[in-house]
Amino acid sequence: MTRRDLLKRLTAIPLLAGWQRGSAAQPAADTKGVEVLQRDWKTLLAANADVALTTEPLRLSSEEWRKRLTAAQYDVLRQEGTERAGSSPLDREKRPGVFVCAGCSLPLFSSAMKYDSGTGWPSFFTTIPGVLVTKRDFKLIFPRTEYHCVRCEGHQGHVFDDGPKPTGLRYCNNGVALRFIPKPGAA
Ligand code: FE
Repeated sequence: MTRRDLLKRLTAIPLLAGWQRGSAAQPAADTKGVEVLQRDWKTLLAANADVALTTEPLRLSSEEWRKRLTAAQYDVLRQEGTERAGSSPLDREKRPGVFVCAGCSLPLFSSAMKYDSGTGWPSFFTTIPGVLVTKRDFKLIFPRTEYHCVRCEGHQGHVFDDGPKPTGLRYCNNGVALRFIPKPGAA
């Protein structure tokens, strides 16, 4: 897949069903499954969870962010740092629940969107719709697609095109940039 195709996929996420129809390798049922995960993510949200249910921008000064975040969170969220692989307990988190931005509490992923990529970073094959924004990043020799929280603009990770079917996407996320809210009793 070319970079252009990847970007096309990213911008076409809400239209996945139509775009992938007709591909024998990607059964419609799986695509439908992703749509359901995106639509019904709140079923994995604990009652009275402390989350932001608005994408209304949260803009703070660097000084305010430093007060609000730990040094490790600040490095990733505000300076686009990358945590050491395998360092986050969220990489091994398997309970039902929702992952929210550690900076502004906007829900970004549900546990049903997570998979074990073996990379040492929490990985997801899709996201809660409308909560992430992407941009190209040239920090390494090859260009990568960086993504960040739409509400606080905090850097979360990079998205690659080697994820599992049916999306083929791997959102490689820094665990320190997320807060996990388990939902007790959920399947
Ligand atoms: Fe945020």
